[in-house]
Amino acid sequence: MSGARGRRPRRVTVLGATGSIGRSTLAVIAEHPGRFEIEALTARTNTAELARLARRHRARLAVIADPSRYRELREALAGSGIETGAGKEALVEAAERPAEFVMAAIVGAAGLAPTLAAVRRGAIVGLANKECLVSAGPLFMAEVRRHGATLLPVDSEHNAVFQALLGGDPADVEKIVLTASGGPFLHASIEEMAAVTPARATAHPNWRMGAKISVDSATMMNKGFEVIEAHHLFGLPEPAIEVMVHPQSAVHGLVLYRDGSMLAQLGPADMRVPIASTLAWPERMRCGVGRLDLLALGRLEFLPPDPDRFPALATAREALRAGGAAPAVLNAANEVAVQAFLENRIGFLDIARIVADMLGTPLVEMPADSMEEILAVDREARLRTARACEARNPRKLYGTGA
Ligand code: NAD
Ligand code: MG
Repeated sequence: MSGARGRRPRRVTVLGATGSIGRSTLAVIAEHPGRFEIEALTARTNTAELARLARRHRARLAVIADPSRYRELREALAGSGIETGAGKEALVEAAERPAEFVMAAIVGAAGLAPTLAAVRRGAIVGLANKECLVSAGPLFMAEVRRHGATLLPVDSEHNAVFQALLGGDPADVEKIVLTASGGPFLHASIEEMAAVTPARATAHPNWRMGAKISVDSATMMNKGFEVIEAHHLFGLPEPAIEVMVHPQSAVHGLVLYRDGSMLAQLGPADMRVPIASTLAWPERMRCGVGRLDLLALGRLEFLPPDPDRFPALATAREALRAGGAAPAVLNAANEVAVQAFLENRIGFLDIARIVADMLGTPLVEMPADSMEEILAVDREARLRTARACEARNPRKLYGTGA
């Protein structure tokens, strides 16, 4: 039915096609034969999955970020007629190809260059990669304005606020609320949190996501990032962006207008909903998810976040208020610390401590007025954070045999 309205198919590129958001995007697209065409798909290392998706969705181009996997990708796509590429420049080239819509679903600052490439040709960009906005928010938004790109938030809370803003004039907004599930440690004691394993931290109660954002949700750094993301997307000052813990994950975001009206978006905790709203934008389309059953849910709870067990939220707010290089330091330090935790090199509570420590170093005094300067901050912050993680590594500390 979807292809029968006589419109031209919308051409889509998915950056980070093998990830949680990438696969959900392709699953939604598969629900609508004839409505979309795939220009390019990219992945970091998983050539087999990338090749499978490229064949299944008849992509024109498949790009693997890890250049050492190029041969593997070529072999996997031999005879398919699908073009192949590898390496960082090829990722940027994939984003530059003439797709009307680009889903930016690479995780981390690695997504910045290709997402910017899509922005710079004025594409419609579905933005899942929040690290772009955390690291380089003001510059990123300036590029969006300069090139007339359309930025559609995929992050569920921002997508909710975006939808609720359609009901009013942005000048009448008093504040917005981003909801947080509270993650797997909502009711855990600080002692329990000190001992959690990567497996426990990535087992999110309400959402199925990639490992990095799952850990970010467990520390609530994710919500801190989302405050920064909301500040840039909606032009609101930091104090006007409130966070509430809402364990049911039914209300994703709300907008309070000056007359006291609150407009909220509700839906199932399934990323296919916000993904579909961006893919079809400004229309709407079905996306294969069930309905939110309010009667089964019965009640909705809202609680303030606990600043003692989840200090990352306040750290992120401080970085936003400080501006300059601080948000880029925040993001880079967090990426390195989360990876160290996932590899069992530091403890769970160390993540937020190490990131906060990095914001107390001269890194935050580095110039950050151009993309090149932001990338230099990012590199330097990664080096210093890696050293800080090393210093906390108990095996290193106790295993010297001295
Ligand atoms: P994921 O780890 O499942 O997938 C990441 C994708 O990016 C994969 O395709 C991977 O191959 C690719 N990738 C990773 N590192 C790369 C690199 N260095 N160079 C090129 N490609 C690379 O992550 P995800 O959960 O899908 O999240 C993607 C982005 O969306 C993140 O920024 C995350 O914060 C955001 N997001 C995710 C969700 C969710 O529900 N999963 C919700 C909101 C926002
Ligand atoms: Mg979110």
